[in-house]
Formats: sequence, structure tokens, C-alpha cells
Amino acid sequence: MHNHKPGKTKIGKCIYCRVGPTNDDSLQDEHVVPFAIDGSDVLEKASCRICARKTSAVESRALGQDLKGIRTVLGFRTRHRRKRSSTLPIEVLRNTGEVEEVDVPLNEYPRILAFPVFPPPAYLSKASYQDGIEVVGIQVIQGNQEFASVADKYDAQEMAVYVSKYPKDWARMLAKIAYGFAVHSQGLDHLSVDDTYVLNSILGVADDVGMWVGCDGETKLPQFPSIDHMYGLYIVEGEIHVRVKLFSFPEAPEYHVIVGRRS
Ligand SMILES: [Zn+2]
Repeated sequence: MHNHKPGKTKIGKCIYCRVGPTNDDSLQDEHVVPFAIDGSDVLEKASCRICARKTSAVESRALGQDLKGIRTVLGFRTRHRRKRSSTLPIEVLRNTGEVEEVDVPLNEYPRILAFPVFPPPAYLSKASYQDGIEVVGIQVIQGNQEFASVADKYDAQEMAVYVSKYPKDWARMLAKIAYGFAVHSQGLDHLSVDDTYVLNSILGVADDVGMWVGCDGETKLPQFPSIDHMYGLYIVEGEIHVRVKLFSFPEAPEYHVIVGRRS
């Protein structure tokens, strides 16, 4: 298995549509794991503006909504540092029975990470498959935090944060991460457009992410607590498989992506 080796790779054409730089569109750098959650591997000059617009829309739905709180609490980078708020909204069920949205300071915000759990990729399980991706569970990871005093302060029976509103975008983001890592470690020449299974789903041309992305319940990546991300690549019968774990808590699900056939 080819494990995480942070670094920069110069590409020089769009890894999605394969156009080269033009006069009115110089290519943008592409982070394998999104910049917003501290991805350190970069494919330089690797995305045209049109494809970047599509992929960043997916990432901002997957991360902007579901992980806004935890990103802020963990102090991840944002391109708009001044916009970072010092409070975040949570939903509070008061002891009186009323439900209200309350802005709480960061030290009171629940340290919760929630990951959608998917079935195994339909391509491997041969399960009948239509489109999209099914969510079979939510894996919740809770940090050390004392809630009783916070609950008292807000007269709360329960406090809730919203998670996993966009599981399909989460899966498409995983497909993009796996593809970016395959390009990073194998080189774009070994990933032809026709043989890259995940490309249509990343770009939104096909609604088939559940074919290629899923959870097989196996653990192959190293296990140690960290907020870094991990990925590993291996080749089975000529096909490129990538395993991705975002935020490498031992309990975080390991996602399995079949990127395509190595050419
Ligand atoms: Zn492009």
C-alpha cells in the first residue's frame, strides 16, 4: 500500500477535463484533501476554472455546512480569516419545552464530528444499485467536554448540531480526494479519462457515486489518534483502490474508493 507522503506535484493540465492552460484561464492548484480541512498535498496547476467551480461547490456543501462548527473549533484554516465567527449556532431544547437556535461561544460548542457511513461500493458488492448513495449509519466522535454546566447555562434539556446534510456531496468529495491522491502518486498519464470510474461523479455528469465509494468495514490504514488525514493506495487486478480517512481518529470510518483502471 502506498501511504500518505505529503508533497507537491506539478501537473500542468486540468486533471478533470485535461485542457491545458489558455490565455484567459491559467490553471489553479488543486488540494488533494480540501484546503479548508488542512489538506497538505497539492497538485500544482491542475484544475481549469470551470472544473474548479464544480468541485469547489461539492466541497463547500460537504464541508461548509456539516463541518463548519468543528472546523472552527479545531482552528482549521479559512481563506477568509476575518469572517471566522467567535460564536456558532446550536439548537437548544429548553427545559420549558421551547426549541431555539442559540449562538454559543466556541468553548461551549459541542466537539462532535459525524461521518456518514455508506454501504460497500456497489461495484465490489455487486448489490443492486440505482443512483446516488445510501447512508446506513452515522459515526459520531465526541471530544472530551463537560456539558452539564453549558446545559445549565442555557436551561437546556438537549443541544443539537446539524450533521450530514449532504452525504452525496461528502461521497463525491471522497471520490475527488481519492482521484487526486491517485494522480499524485501514479501520475496523470496512468489515469486515462475513459478508465477513470469516478470522474463523471466528481464532475456531476453521472449520479453514480455509490458504485465507486463506500465503507467495507475493514481497517487497513494505520490506527492512531490524530486530526491529520490518511490515505493509502493499492492496485488490485489493474484497478486503483484508495482508502481515505478524514481526521484520523481510530473511530473514524475508512472509506474505500475504486478510482479506475490503471492504464
Ligand atoms: Zn477542467
